[in-house]
Amino acid sequence: MKKITIAKGNGIGPEIMDATIEILLSAGAKIEIEEIEVGEKVYLAGNPAGIAPESWKSIITNKIFLKAPITTPQGGGYKSLNVSTRKFLGLYANVRPCKSLDPFVDTKHPVMDLVIIRENEEDLYAGIEHQQTDEVVQCLKLISRPGCEKIVRYAFEYAKQQNRKKVSCFTKDNIMKQTDGLFHKVFDEIAKEYPEIQNEHWIVDIGAAKVAESPEIFDVIVMPNLYGDIISDIAAEITGSVGLAGSSNIGEECAMFEAIHGTAPDIAGKDIANPSGLLQGAIMMLNHIGQSSVAEKIQNAWLYTLEQGIHTADIYKEGTSKLKVGTREFAKSVIENL
Ligand code: NAD
Repeated sequence: MKKITIAKGNGIGPEIMDATIEILLSAGAKIEIEEIEVGEKVYLAGNPAGIAPESWKSIITNKIFLKAPITTPQGGGYKSLNVSTRKFLGLYANVRPCKSLDPFVDTKHPVMDLVIIRENEEDLYAGIEHQQTDEVVQCLKLISRPGCEKIVRYAFEYAKQQNRKKVSCFTKDNIMKQTDGLFHKVFDEIAKEYPEIQNEHWIVDIGAAKVAESPEIFDVIVMPNLYGDIISDIAAEITGSVGLAGSSNIGEECAMFEAIHGTAPDIAGKDIANPSGLLQGAIMMLNHIGQSSVAEKIQNAWLYTLEQGIHTADIYKEGTSKLKVGTREFAKSVIENL
């Protein structure tokens, strides 16, 4: 039995977390759940980071955190709890697989199976912002050699373990010659240690365009934080929906698992959200804690449910889909297929 910490988050968070946990427990996952509360309510109760000290303790003790999306105020207010968690726990690698499920889920790109490995602690997300004058504000882009080495090596090791053939690197080193230049340089150095894996570099703007146009040419892609955040949403969306992709945030000691999307306030509380992204995150978590057979059982039941054409609204398409279902009913179908 593995004790894990969970947070139901905001918006659609509680709905997709309840669905995910129900599936995990029905499949026989050996997990004991410790729930913490995070976000605005906790912030307003006097915790500047939006998380109470005893909740940090729970995450650090259990080392495994399954988290639903959290609202982050835009253009002001408290700092992103997602960013704080990744930095505080040293979760340096954010792994985001995006795969098409053609012909069962309608997609523009039937042949697509790529993994984005996003650096998770540095870049413009270091949160070093200040006001220079009344009319000038500044944000510092921080890239370190150890940070680059850790994430690039992680990408090559991941490719090796998962039997993937190529690692691509995206940067804008023609403009940011020092910061992105260092990332690219470290990529070239480490790539030499893996002669069996192909490597290539793309300038991020055309790389992003190619992901949108010909995703089948990519396998594993490693990139600095901000590019990874943006391009993984694009990649997930073109498989069929941003609601399909999960992610793992890996550190030396702790790991956090989540959906890649946000709180979807436009559909919150309506029982129509797709729980698949968080479920995919939970499947990664089960593999991470050594419960691979349960993970496989859930993955197969999930795939079979999609193959049956039982689809939530975000992926529902006349012709491909058979039955439009809500969050709870989708979870029920997955459970029946276990
Ligand atoms: P979003 O991902 O929440 O939503 C974008 C669009 O995708 C919306 O139309 C939404 O309805 C749809 N969508 C997202 N997930 C879906 C799902 N599971 N099923 C069906 N449709 C889905 O992005 P946003 O609107 O830009 O952000 C809303 C809030 O989420 C913001 O406060 C943002 O800071 C936060 N956010 C949190 C995380 C996180 O906790 N890891 C990540 C991204 C955004």
